[in-house]
Amino acid sequence: MQDILTPEFRETLVPRIKKTIEEAARFNSTPGDGITRFPFTKEAVQVCDYLEQVMKDAGLETSRDASGAVIGRIEGEVPRTILLESHYDTVLHGGAYDGMAGVVCGIEIARIIKESGKKPYYSLEVMATNDEEGSRFSSGFFTSMVVCGKVTPEYCRSDRDKDGVSIAEAMEAAGLDPDKLPQEPRKDIAAVFEIHCEQGPVLEQKGIDLGIVEAITGTHRVQIDLIGRPDHAGTTPMDMRKDAMEAASRLVISVTDRAKALGNAVTTVGRLSVEPCIVNIVAGKVSLWIDFRSTEKDKILAMRKGIDSDLEGLKKTMGIDCVLTERMIDWPVAMDEGLRARLRKSCGAIGVSHMDLPSGAGHDAQIFAEIAPAAMMFVPSIGGRSHCPEEKTDEVYMAMAVQAVCDTVMGINGDKCL
Ligand SMILES: [Zn+2]
Repeated sequence: MQDILTPEFRETLVPRIKKTIEEAARFNSTPGDGITRFPFTKEAVQVCDYLEQVMKDAGLETSRDASGAVIGRIEGEVPRTILLESHYDTVLHGGAYDGMAGVVCGIEIARIIKESGKKPYYSLEVMATNDEEGSRFSSGFFTSMVVCGKVTPEYCRSDRDKDGVSIAEAMEAAGLDPDKLPQEPRKDIAAVFEIHCEQGPVLEQKGIDLGIVEAITGTHRVQIDLIGRPDHAGTTPMDMRKDAMEAASRLVISVTDRAKALGNAVTTVGRLSVEPCIVNIVAGKVSLWIDFRSTEKDKILAMRKGIDSDLEGLKKTMGIDCVLTERMIDWPVAMDEGLRARLRKSCGAIGVSHMDLPSGAGHDAQIFAEIAPAAMMFVPSIGGRSHCPEEKTDEVYMAMAVQAVCDTVMGINGDKCL
């Protein structure tokens, strides 16, 4: 880590980031066991009140939107808006940095711009988004989908959490009205930035300060049912079996090898069930889920083609019936090259090391990218840990990201280029 921060930054910015992260972590439904802040809960409402006060203290005009996002705004000379967004909800037993790191950095960037005393050309908005994680309801990306005009009140009445509470009911309990969700995308957003912890080990292992995201990975998830025949484990000769477990094993090895051979692709079989699941019976049926991801659409398509041919092969050589059910397709989203070039330039100018890298996780930026150029900056995760209580990022890197993104936003204002 290079010491690029001025003494003033080191003495004021770093401790202030630390303090806000710590204070926000108090709003937690699982104290002592990581941070849990599900959307529309008491803790979510409390953290919104807290963040609104922090934004006010930073000199921002605050408001809430229909999705439950907290917004802090600086009016520019034109209404077109540069958005600095990240989420305030967490996963179950998560950490204090996922999402909140970007919210806090956004507030600090706006504070620096406000304190400069100059009215920016573009309006600036810090947005703390709601339900990005999808931990309570099925979809996630709630605020970003709402801002893009893609969430209907009907959908909010149909999607329910594990206790049977619909999004609409949860919204109402938090003082929000599902019938007020905008049905058109916001038109004023001109560029989007999201700072986020990497949630992986690459930056730390390479000793690089900041990451500039090339693309957010696409995810394809399929469920596969392999149907063989349950038989006696002792009396059925090997060449007379239809062993669904053997088929599953061959399939798992094949998809794993294929991802390794493709490069820039990952595949995971993290869920598998066996019937009848008895030690002395040949498996009659195995159901497994394959999750495969890449930032390149071609590789996702190649993986899928490979799975289809594997299943054909299992049918032909082993007589196994295979049923494939598509569970999810999210295509990869490239980040805006123009904004990425500006981020690289800002990093270079302040002397922080940086690298391009893909995001293996989904983020609100991929949804916002549908309505405006979007870019993401990663700060290193200690030990690569995330979605766990141990999740941590050194606040010094967050201060570097604040400086780099702030300089980028100021550069865009100077160039009036959006
Ligand atoms: Zn996140």
